[in-house]
Amino acid sequence: MTERGTLVLATERDRADLDAFAGRTLGHHPVDGTGIARLEPGLEGRHRHGVFFKREAHIEPRRALADLVGHLADKGVGIEQVQVRPEDVTGPVIDCRGLAARDALGDLRGVRGEMIVLRSREIVLHRPIRLLHPRHPLYVVPRPGGLFMLGATQIESADRSGVTARTAVELMSSAYALDPRFAEAEIVEMGTDLRPAFPDNVPRIIRRGCVLHVNGLFRHGYLIAPALARQAAAYLADGHKGDLIHED
Ligand SMILES: Cc1cc2nc3c(=O)[nH]c(=O)nc-3n(C[C@H](O)[C@H](O)[C@H](O)COP(=O)(O)OP(=O)(O)OC[C@H]3O[C@@H](n4cnc5c(N)ncnc54)[C@H](O)[C@@H]3O)c2cc1C
Repeated sequence: MTERGTLVLATERDRADLDAFAGRTLGHHPVDGTGIARLEPGLEGRHRHGVFFKREAHIEPRRALADLVGHLADKGVGIEQVQVRPEDVTGPVIDCRGLAARDALGDLRGVRGEMIVLRSREIVLHRPIRLLHPRHPLYVVPRPGGLFMLGATQIESADRSGVTARTAVELMSSAYALDPRFAEAEIVEMGTDLRPAFPDNVPRIIRRGCVLHVNGLFRHGYLIAPALARQAAAYLADGHKGDLIHED
């Protein structure tokens, strides 16, 4: 985990959005052009309005998953990859199949998200940067090796086909608005997936008989999975009913 905060920026034209964003959130302070350059020297002279969330952190999801698997293996817990349904298994079951659990959770829907990974040898960023925009908001997350993940769309569709030309243009235009040197970056990867979400976009732990459905993590699966896991474990261990637990 990298603990260097998140910098949220807006162009002069979208400054009102930055004020509105700051008004809806906590734990930040405003930064001007000098403050932005101090945090991100590579953006010096390019942006004048931002807010800095000092206590935020970020992870590399693929590495985090590999580390978790390794950590479990060290404790003697193995992971088998087999396709099963809850009814195929005897005893208590935790169903965390994501969108595949739609057969059991009728109001679960897929929300399409697309992302692009670029490589630039010129650009250096130290933390995730969000660029606010009324139609094409962007976040850029720096990864080792000069990689930058650009994300992510949020489209009400269960279509898993590849990144559209429209999205590619929009994400890359926003990246260009953040730093024009992205125009010379190499496209390394483009990806699409569906986020499992309930109608209110709030995750739930639903108990039905001996099955515990843990689902609806929507845009924040990596962020909130630990909290959900803690609630599920407390419920299974001593019946403690956290605020995300629903009994059918
Ligand atoms: C472009 C994009 C960007 C995102 N960015 C972020 C971010 O910055 N921060 C964040 O916190 N979240 C982010 N998310 C959201 C995050 O990816 C999801 O919230 C999370 O993946 C949901 O986790 P899950 O385990 O519930 O479901 P999934 O990740 O969908 O996992 C479900 C798993 O169940 C397995 N499975 C399905 N059916 C079966 C079966 N029958 N038997 C056995 N296994 C089965 C699947 O193979 C899969 O591995 C992003 C998502 C997208 C698409």
